[in-house]
Amino acid sequence: MRVVRFYAPRDVRVEDAPEPTAGPGELVVRVRNCSLCGTDAKIWRSGHPDLRPPRVLGHEVAGEVVEVGEGVGGWSVGDRVQVVAAVPDGTCHECRQGWMSVCPNQERIGYHHDGGFAELLRVPATVLAVDGVNRVPDGLSFAEASLAEPLSCVLNGQELARVGQGQTVVVVGAGPIGCLHVRLARARGAARVFLVELSRRRLALAAGLVAPDEAVDAGASDAVAAVRELTGGRGADVIVVAAASGQAQEDAVAMAARRGTVSFFGGLPKDRPSITVDANLVHYREVGIVGANGSSPDHNKQALELIAAGEVPVADLITHRLPLELTVEGIHAVTRGEAMKLTVEPAYSGVT
Ligand SMILES: [Zn+2]
Repeated sequence: MRVVRFYAPRDVRVEDAPEPTAGPGELVVRVRNCSLCGTDAKIWRSGHPDLRPPRVLGHEVAGEVVEVGEGVGGWSVGDRVQVVAAVPDGTCHECRQGWMSVCPNQERIGYHHDGGFAELLRVPATVLAVDGVNRVPDGLSFAEASLAEPLSCVLNGQELARVGQGQTVVVVGAGPIGCLHVRLARARGAARVFLVELSRRRLALAAGLVAPDEAVDAGASDAVAAVRELTGGRGADVIVVAAASGQAQEDAVAMAARRGTVSFFGGLPKDRPSITVDANLVHYREVGIVGANGSSPDHNKQALELIAAGEVPVADLITHRLPLELTVEGIHAVTRGEAMKLTVEPAYSGVT
């Protein structure tokens, strides 16, 4: 079969590999869609400490079961499935608290295990053990189902930031994740959602898709002043920073209303992880700052349901469909920020 394998930063190859088989407790899935994510671009550029090369990349997976391993109940050949990316151990202190997104023993598809930029994906037994395979509802395409993974991370972020009814929410960063944040905030009952972005072109593309109540061009205006003005000086209830920018994080704290919450949804470059915050703003205004790290298997289930129910539509966010052979070009397109969501569609040529 054909796969996309990471060997080293800037060395990602499309090549042949042996077809996987399902061992005890495992499934083999024919990948119908594996969508590209900003993380794939980051990995291409600089690798990742959890990724041991050579490794097949790709972690936003939907496809069909083609083989069921010994001892696996509930799944049959032909079932349409979505597979989680983050695999918690399910047994540690954090998992027992229900905080599976911060399981210290978490493994990930496309990092510790071979991923979905391949014709076939072996689903490890550890994924099935945490109920990490979800049935794709009838009528939902594989491409849409593959976006359950990024939406599950967005859902975890908005739960932690307690996005809810009647709020004014600011989303900073107008990539696919920012668009999902805008739509999920609406689904959770936010009254007004503003989208802030440095790139005018990207802002226009995203605003055309998700129609925020206000689109703030942070390259041409003072975004903090704009948010203060749009909220009558009160500030926003929740600010989600879905951009790898320390400046955006600092600005977000300054945008917060009294009792507001700031979500550092995106990580910062590992060589520049520090920011400067006016601690007295946080202190006197009782501002909360929360992180967000991936998602749990349950978030994946909920995300798939939100997409299937039409509460968070995703089909229009998928602007590009690529064959497996063009995955590296797709990664470059993600880096350039010229597309919204790209999805890879491996055309399996083997016999199933
Ligand atoms: Zn755990």
